[in-house]
Amino acid sequence: MAEQQAAQETKKKYQIQHDRPNCIGCAACAAIAPDFWTMHEDGKSDIVGSKKREDGWEELDIGEKDYQLNREAADSCPVNVIHIVDKETGDRII
Ligand code: SF4
Repeated sequence: MAEQQAAQETKKKYQIQHDRPNCIGCAACAAIAPDFWTMHEDGKSDIVGSKKREDGWEELDIGEKDYQLNREAADSCPVNVIHIVDKETGDRII
Protein backbone atom coordinates (compact mmCIF):
# COMPACT_ATOMS: atom_id res chain seq x y z
CA MET A 1 0.00 0.00 0.00
CA ALA A 2 2.73 2.42 1.00
CA GLU A 3 4.64 1.37 -2.08
CA GLN A 4 1.63 2.07 -4.25
CA GLN A 5 1.28 5.51 -2.74
CA ALA A 6 4.94 6.24 -3.32
CA ALA A 7 4.62 5.15 -6.93
CA GLN A 8 1.62 7.41 -7.32
CA GLU A 9 3.51 10.39 -5.92
CA THR A 10 6.52 9.93 -8.14
CA LYS A 11 4.44 9.44 -11.27
CA LYS A 12 4.94 12.25 -13.75
CA LYS A 13 1.37 13.34 -14.19
CA TYR A 14 1.97 16.64 -15.93
CA GLN A 15 4.15 18.06 -18.66
CA ILE A 16 5.43 21.64 -18.64
CA GLN A 17 5.81 23.06 -22.15
CA HIS A 18 7.73 26.22 -22.95
CA ASP A 19 7.10 28.07 -26.22
CA ARG A 20 10.66 29.32 -26.07
CA PRO A 21 10.69 31.14 -29.45
CA ASN A 22 8.05 33.52 -28.06
CA CYS A 23 9.64 33.99 -24.63
CA ILE A 24 10.47 37.67 -24.02
CA GLY A 25 12.99 36.93 -21.28
CA CYS A 26 11.29 38.82 -18.44
CA ALA A 27 12.70 36.31 -15.87
CA ALA A 28 9.48 36.05 -13.86
CA CYS A 29 9.45 32.24 -14.11
CA ALA A 30 13.06 31.97 -12.93
CA ALA A 31 12.31 34.24 -9.96
CA ILE A 32 9.33 32.15 -8.89
CA ALA A 33 10.65 28.64 -9.56
CA PRO A 34 14.46 28.77 -9.83
CA ASP A 35 14.78 25.00 -9.46
CA PHE A 36 12.85 24.59 -12.70
CA TRP A 37 13.49 27.79 -14.65
CA THR A 38 16.81 29.43 -15.45
CA MET A 39 17.84 32.37 -17.62
CA HIS A 40 20.04 31.62 -20.64
CA GLU A 41 22.70 33.97 -22.01
CA ASP A 42 20.57 34.58 -25.12
CA GLY A 43 18.11 36.37 -22.84
CA LYS A 44 15.38 33.72 -22.82
CA SER A 45 14.53 31.23 -20.10
CA ASP A 46 15.03 27.47 -20.14
CA ILE A 47 13.29 24.68 -18.26
CA VAL A 48 16.06 22.99 -16.29
CA GLY A 49 16.72 19.47 -17.62
CA SER A 50 14.12 19.74 -20.36
CA LYS A 51 13.88 17.96 -23.67
CA LYS A 52 14.37 20.35 -26.60
CA ARG A 53 11.98 20.00 -29.50
CA GLU A 54 12.90 20.77 -33.11
CA ASP A 55 10.44 23.65 -33.17
CA GLY A 56 12.30 25.31 -30.30
CA TRP A 57 9.83 24.40 -27.58
CA GLU A 58 10.99 22.68 -24.40
CA GLU A 59 9.22 19.95 -22.45
CA LEU A 60 9.62 18.46 -18.99
CA ASP A 61 7.45 15.91 -17.22
CA ILE A 62 6.70 16.69 -13.58
CA GLY A 63 4.84 15.05 -10.71
CA GLU A 64 1.98 16.35 -8.61
CA LYS A 65 4.27 17.89 -5.99
CA ASP A 66 5.86 20.22 -8.53
CA TYR A 67 2.60 21.26 -10.17
CA GLN A 68 1.69 24.24 -7.99
CA LEU A 69 5.04 26.00 -8.25
CA ASN A 70 5.16 25.62 -12.01
CA ARG A 71 1.53 26.70 -12.23
CA GLU A 72 2.56 29.90 -10.44
CA ALA A 73 5.42 30.37 -12.90
CA ALA A 74 3.00 29.87 -15.79
CA ASP A 75 0.51 32.31 -14.28
CA SER A 76 3.28 34.89 -13.92
CA CYS A 77 4.33 34.74 -17.58
CA PRO A 78 3.20 37.99 -19.25
CA VAL A 79 3.11 36.46 -22.75
CA ASN A 80 1.60 33.08 -21.77
CA VAL A 81 4.34 30.93 -23.27
CA ILE A 82 4.38 28.48 -20.34
CA HIS A 83 1.85 25.69 -20.64
CA ILE A 84 1.02 22.71 -18.44
CA VAL A 85 -0.58 19.60 -19.92
CA ASP A 86 -2.35 16.87 -17.95
CA LYS A 87 -0.76 13.78 -19.47
CA GLU A 88 -3.64 11.52 -18.47
CA THR A 89 -6.33 13.49 -20.27
CA GLY A 90 -4.17 15.35 -22.77
CA ASP A 91 -5.83 18.59 -21.67
CA ARG A 92 -3.84 21.80 -21.61
CA ILE A 93 -4.49 23.25 -18.15
CA ILE A 94 -2.88 26.58 -18.94
S1 SF4 B 1 7.94 34.36 -17.54
FE1 SF4 B 1 7.49 33.84 -19.69
S2 SF4 B 1 8.39 35.47 -20.94
FE2 SF4 B 1 9.24 35.65 -18.87
S3 SF4 B 1 11.21 34.51 -19.03
FE3 SF4 B 1 9.64 33.09 -18.25
S4 SF4 B 1 8.81 32.04 -20.08
FE4 SF4 B 1 9.93 33.87 -20.77
